[in-house]
Amino acid sequence: MIQNPIPWPNGARCACAITFDMDADSLIHCARPEDSFDRVYPISMGRYGPTVAIPRILETYRWLGLKQSFFIPGWCMETYPETVEAILKGGHEIGHHGWIHEDPVTTKGEAQDIAFEKALETHKRLCGAVPAGYRAPVYNVTQQVIDLLVKHNFRYDSSLMADDIPYEMQTPGGALYEMPVHWGTDDWPPFAHYDEIGYLMPVRGPSAGLAGFWEEFEAQYEAGGFFMLIVHPFLTGRLARWRLVEKWLEKTLETRDVWFAPLRDIADHLDALKADGFTPRVETLPYYTDRQS
Ligand SMILES: [Zn+2]
Repeated sequence: MIQNPIPWPNGARCACAITFDMDADSLIHCARPEDSFDRVYPISMGRYGPTVAIPRILETYRWLGLKQSFFIPGWCMETYPETVEAILKGGHEIGHHGWIHEDPVTTKGEAQDIAFEKALETHKRLCGAVPAGYRAPVYNVTQQVIDLLVKHNFRYDSSLMADDIPYEMQTPGGALYEMPVHWGTDDWPPFAHYDEIGYLMPVRGPSAGLAGFWEEFEAQYEAGGFFMLIVHPFLTGRLARWRLVEKWLEKTLETRDVWFAPLRDIADHLDALKADGFTPRVETLPYYTDRQS
């Protein structure tokens, strides 16, 4: 069971979001900046996302009538502007995902401010608006990032793991929602194989790799919760995997009482509920301000 479940629009039993992090080849440039430009294999693996997988995913969403959320580093938006245009044309949301997938834990202080704001400028120019949401590269949120989100009036973060369903984070500078992630609904563990950035995992077959996701859905559905996938076009957008996700989407939309929405719409819904007297669970940040021993 879930304590304090969120009432979803039109009495839907479960809110659902398939969120894609379109990292493209930023991962190799961030990990191996000295010679990434000549590492053609990982560049090609990343390019598969914007060039092959995203058109496939957008076509599925078009015929199913879904609007969803994509998180894209600013550098990728600048490098693949036609992909950004296609995502926006489909009515989807694009969230902030760093500049070139730099890890906030190792890119701190002024370097983090610069990277964060550079990506923000790209959003303003290519999307015509500031993003509503943020997901940290490798989920590595720091208090500096939380403060930047509050400073720039972000509505939500989607990198943290303190609950099963959306909650509110209160900080000294202001509040924002958290659309929580976890590793059980992320496609990195079952599908990533990427020696250059330290992952050498046995790649699961499509149905075995996806099976855990559907078990997560069933638990959230039963509890009236929130089911979110955190997936990558170059992994889950591959032909055989996406074929299975597409079949699952089709069946779920037909047979279950679900609300698929971009995360910004879920933030809007939480605002409306709060105005009506509902209180989401609150986490107060910062958790700590000094070394713990
Ligand atoms: Zn990413």
